[in-house]
Amino acid sequence: MAVKVVKFGGTSMADAGAINQVADIVKSDPERRYVVVSAPGKRFSGDTKVTDLLYACYHDLEINGECSATFAKIRERFEGIVKDLGLDLDMKPILDEVEKKMVINYSVDYCASRGEYLSAIVLAKKLGFEFVDAEKIMIFDVNGNFMSEQTNELVAKTLKDIKCAVIPGFYGADGTGSIHTFSRGGSDITGAVVARAADAVIYENWTDVDGFMSADPRIVENPTIIKKLSYKELRELAYMGANVLHPEAVFPVKASGIPINIRNTFNPQAPGTLIVAEVEEDEFAKRQITGVAGKKGYSIIFIEKELMNSELGFGRRVLSVLEYYNILFEHMPSGIGTLSIVVSDSELAGKEDVVLERIRNIVKPDNIEIKSGISLISTVGHGMSFRPGTAAKLCEALAKANINIRMIDQGSSELNIIVAVATQDYEKAVNAIYHAFA
Ligand code: ASP
Repeated sequence: MAVKVVKFGGTSMADAGAINQVADIVKSDPERRYVVVSAPGKRFSGDTKVTDLLYACYHDLEINGECSATFAKIRERFEGIVKDLGLDLDMKPILDEVEKKMVINYSVDYCASRGEYLSAIVLAKKLGFEFVDAEKIMIFDVNGNFMSEQTNELVAKTLKDIKCAVIPGFYGADGTGSIHTFSRGGSDITGAVVARAADAVIYENWTDVDGFMSADPRIVENPTIIKKLSYKELRELAYMGANVLHPEAVFPVKASGIPINIRNTFNPQAPGTLIVAEVEEDEFAKRQITGVAGKKGYSIIFIEKELMNSELGFGRRVLSVLEYYNILFEHMPSGIGTLSIVVSDSELAGKEDVVLERIRNIVKPDNIEIKSGISLISTVGHGMSFRPGTAAKLCEALAKANINIRMIDQGSSELNIIVAVATQDYEKAVNAIYHAFA
């Protein structure tokens, strides 16, 4: 029988009503055999996610050596869910053990991972599926790096003998048994890893929106849902802030060409967004761009030097300074006598002066400065390749909105055009670009 791997996010696991919905979705298709879950998320705006409560527990442990007051809120959440679901499951000993181990283990990753652990125990009971602990199958090294190939083999071997299972997302363990987590939102990665190992026909990622939107709905009113996009487009949009799916969740499924389907737990009839290796040509003929995404919080290191173009190794010497200070950069457009390096403020924080000083010493520029308050906007779509006029249309839209482009960058793959604008123009610029292509 074909296998579908399904992952449910925090809102889908937030309370008994949502979990009943999840159970209906899983049970309505016998191919939905392996279920990956997040910790319960927010039930209403202003509510706190269980994972955030767990980070608060760790903080309490650091200060007081105990966390019972904060942990009481987690107890209440899970006991309430189990009671409302009417499950014959005594959560008390399970929660007692988790609290005890949090004090003994006293590691931030251990604490943070317990929301997924508890969530999966509850859903496994509700569905009558086997609970498979992620610490037994998701392998990290002792430094917290995920070991994808070893994990793939182990998950495949383990699931071969299990018909239906619920697996907690977000974490795994190293050879010594210590727990490690992915970065926030990492249950999406677990789902993708399980989909690859189980050789799934599809990886369904169930969330609380109807699909991947072509722009941020907090900025653009009613953006369209993208019906189909490629892994590459998804990666570009997710990296630039479209946060329906963790940006790293693409890699495991991409390796074996498993499509990802973003679905809405609260509107299961909607087809959602399908993410595939290749989108058909005619789909692109209909649309020039697939989506727009962006992020605030960047700076440009602007370097000017006459005749830098004829100085062999100029760029390498500049970049060696960033490497020395462990700073990742995003883009590096250049002119004959100028070089602009775009870096995020968080990468540069506290290192501005030393970086400028060292670049000055190494390449002796005529002028060097950091221009801050920059936002990046990425306009993404395979449809723009070999189609003249995309950049022109984009620039015209920004000009009409009276927005100055501080930098523009288009890779030769023609998958995206990135512009930098002043942060005060960010929302206006995203709207201008979106509406130009809508
Ligand atoms: N619960 C974790 C978080 O809040 C992981 C996840 O939901 O994917 O980030």
